[in-house]
Amino acid sequence: MTWRSTILTLFPEMFPGPLAHSLAGRALKDGKWSLETIDIRDFAHDKHQTVDDTCVGGGAGMVLKADIVDAALTHACNQYPHEPPALIYLTPRGEPLRQSRVRSFMQDHPTGCILLCGRYEGVDDRVIEKWREERGLLEISIGDYILSGGEIAALTFMDACVRLLPGVVNKQESLESESFELDLLEFPQYTKPQIWQGKVVPEILLSGDHKKIAAWRHKQAEQITEVRRPDLWQAYLTKHPSGQR
Ligand code: SAM
Repeated sequence: MTWRSTILTLFPEMFPGPLAHSLAGRALKDGKWSLETIDIRDFAHDKHQTVDDTCVGGGAGMVLKADIVDAALTHACNQYPHEPPALIYLTPRGEPLRQSRVRSFMQDHPTGCILLCGRYEGVDDRVIEKWREERGLLEISIGDYILSGGEIAALTFMDACVRLLPGVVNKQESLESESFELDLLEFPQYTKPQIWQGKVVPEILLSGDHKKIAAWRHKQAEQITEVRRPDLWQAYLTKHPSGQR
């Protein structure tokens, strides 16, 4: 089965961009996922192809018009006559994206999604409200900062999703040990040579004792999480009280 994505954007030329390379790019070529873009500007109805207007109530910047975004969303949904896809608006006002959310999203929506990329000051809230109420549109943020548009957020979201498709990342275990998967940041990783610029790989990793290596890595993951991400560490302790040292 191909995981299908449709992107509504004013900049279709930004796609697949970085997702044409490496793991995601290979999976795209192999048909494990697909990507279509829809140019929001195609739904403008004046000769200047206007898609935005000034903010009602005053304020700087422009807002994407409700009727145009609505027509683009309707067109995108009509491309999926059989199974209604997940609909997502990328916005800093959305639910912050986490690895656990990517996993649950992929479980709940294994067939794909339609992603709406905003620009300027964003999208007229009435169209977002309509699609949230009628079609369960989700609002997702990729972090507490402001990007110029939703395209980079959409690429980020898709990359996180595509990695979880069966056969995209070669070894399942490399996914399982990654940061956030076990509610912890990942332990430090090393490769050859054993000594580089006088720095030595921790000896335990050369012992061949897989049980001891796993225990060392787990301890490292706990320590790093405690120091770097007190928020994650507190959540981890609540979930795994035995993690307390
Ligand atoms: N005025 C909006 C606000 O303060 O919430 C920000 C608009 S932003 C300049 C333009 C578009 O970029 C948004 O509509 C959204 O699609 C996208 N965007 C910006 N930051 C984002 C983020 N952190 N996560 C997801 N999308 C983002």
